[in-house]
Amino acid sequence: MMKSPSSIPQNTDQKQFLTILSREEALARFEAALFPWSVPTEKWSLAEALGLALAEDVAAQVDIPPFDRSNVDGFAVRAADLVAASDLQPVRLMLNRETIACGSVPQLAVLPGTATAIATGGPLPRGADAIVMVEYTQPAGGGAIEVRRAVSPGQFVSTAGSDMARGEVVLRAGSVIGAREIGILAACGTPQVTVARKLRVAVLSTGDELVQPGEPLQPAGIYDANGPIVSAAVTENGGEAHFLGAFPDDEARLETAMREALASHDVLILSGGTSKGAGDVSYRIIGRLGKPGIIAHGVALKPGKPLCLAVCGGKPVIILPGFPTSAMFTFHDMVVPILRRMAGLPPRVDAQTSAQLPFRVPSELGRTEFVMVSLVQGRDGLMAYATGKGSGAITAFAQADGFIRIDAFADHLPAGAQVPVTLFTPQVRVPDLVVIGSHCTGLDLVVGKIARQGISVRSLAVGSLGGLAAAKRCECDLAPIHLFDPQTQVYNTPFLSEGIELVPGWRRIQGIVFRRGDARFEGRNAPEAVEAALADPECMMVNRNQGAGTRILIDQLLGQTRPDGYWNQPRSHNAVAAAVVQKRADWGVTIGPVARAAGLGFIPLTQEHFDFALVTDRKERVAVQAFLAALLSPDMQDALERAGFSRAR
Ligand code: AMP
Ligand code: MG
Repeated sequence: MMKSPSSIPQNTDQKQFLTILSREEALARFEAALFPWSVPTEKWSLAEALGLALAEDVAAQVDIPPFDRSNVDGFAVRAADLVAASDLQPVRLMLNRETIACGSVPQLAVLPGTATAIATGGPLPRGADAIVMVEYTQPAGGGAIEVRRAVSPGQFVSTAGSDMARGEVVLRAGSVIGAREIGILAACGTPQVTVARKLRVAVLSTGDELVQPGEPLQPAGIYDANGPIVSAAVTENGGEAHFLGAFPDDEARLETAMREALASHDVLILSGGTSKGAGDVSYRIIGRLGKPGIIAHGVALKPGKPLCLAVCGGKPVIILPGFPTSAMFTFHDMVVPILRRMAGLPPRVDAQTSAQLPFRVPSELGRTEFVMVSLVQGRDGLMAYATGKGSGAITAFAQADGFIRIDAFADHLPAGAQVPVTLFTPQVRVPDLVVIGSHCTGLDLVVGKIARQGISVRSLAVGSLGGLAAAKRCECDLAPIHLFDPQTQVYNTPFLSEGIELVPGWRRIQGIVFRRGDARFEGRNAPEAVEAALADPECMMVNRNQGAGTRILIDQLLGQTRPDGYWNQPRSHNAVAAAVVQKRADWGVTIGPVARAAGLGFIPLTQEHFDFALVTDRKERVAVQAFLAALLSPDMQDALERAGFSRAR
């Protein structure tokens, strides 16, 4: 067993999961087990070498330029002839009977008192030591010119080898070949280069539940996201990814696949099956694949603790955690540096920016934590809002602009802290319009329309109350809300505060969803259906989260009753429909268009007002005006009606 001061003893009956290493310790041990590694090389033509790293220094085989060369159109002269030349006293030179173009070899020497016409790029003739530009001369008749400027020796001449001298190293090993490098290599006549061969990386997903995109999703199935993610990230980092598919958690089959993959590749990357869960087998196989085997299993990263790093017979074998977000972070933080070093590529450089945290960000002590952030333009610069923290949601990546890294020894970052943000894109891209609040399928129609006008929109679904709070903090332009105030019997308006105004949106029907044919609901009106549901102890409901407008509606329906399923509180209309379709619940409350799309029975409850709380300060912004114009446009009103919504009156 490996011991280090930074290792923390863990559950001892788990053979290979004895210690959690710090991120730094795990990386150091992994590198020590793997390097030195001799980078495999190949010879390629220049065009084929694009994007690859040079494996050796390249020296110029010839001088560039190979001869003394004119840099301008003009006349090759002897500078000494023109020492006294000026506008008042032009000097007359006799023209030699040749013109030196590019590619022509001069035949005549420039003797004192003579000049030879020469084009840009022409080789300097014998005797000449400078060029006078054509602009400072004029024809003087009788085969002569007049020159009105003195020139210094060497003027407008590039001497042989001044660009690259024969034997000079023009590109160093490790340079990545782009258009500029190809230019340098071509200019010094190099047809082929020795480059580091792309790493052959086998990518393999594991899990009984995995289904490839395009295949039908069975019950409890999950689409394999890691296979495509890891393959693409390998390619992005200069490797050659070979995706071998998803394998069930079957030790024998997986071992065969892993052995074959390792035999024909430089690197093997798996995902899933590394936690201590039942059926997680991939890490057990590694011990049999070659020495030294597992280097680290359990790294103090968040997300990404179950990461497993191994070296088998000199080749790295990596098992990424199963959750796609964890897989991505651990891949970029722990695997990319290794892959690039193995491939002779320079370390990856991601664009960085700096932003202020609006809220305290708590963090687990002892683990290096990655937190995705969305950037919003605040009054005094960029603000970084933590998004999708701990949710494991893959869409968090789409919402986020980058991430912050919290050191293992920090238990939080304070509100107001200025923090470095690593960007997912080459530049900061702050969205033109920020919409935070309740989600509605109708909203996608409006957002889609302005997105097609070139306006970038960030839309975060956090529920009506969350959106309203964000609007009050000026974190968004608009907060979609549908909040009913039982006291006044009025939607939305009673919830506004100073600086926030209401923009009417549309009306939508909320109703009870059930599976068609369920006699407790079929053919009944809402009060009867609720009564039947509550009368049957077997009847399971699905609720909504606190803060959702729909939740307020449900609580009104139920009064003091807490039927089975009440504590199942998903955050979206779609989750309610999915629970009923999948028979995890028998009824719930959702909006008409979602019920229709899910093929469920629907008993209308109420027509609610889905409106927008607009931050008045931000009303005049171009993107806000575009949103309002799109919302009110007749074609949008028609589109909303077709989608099952009705007009706000
Ligand atoms: P595991 O590490 O195998 O226990 O997986 C942890 C979680 O990640 C489970 O919810 C898996 O369904 C999920 N998961 C594992 N592999 C993948 C994959 N390739 N794509 C998407 N989700 C995955
Ligand atoms: Mg699994």
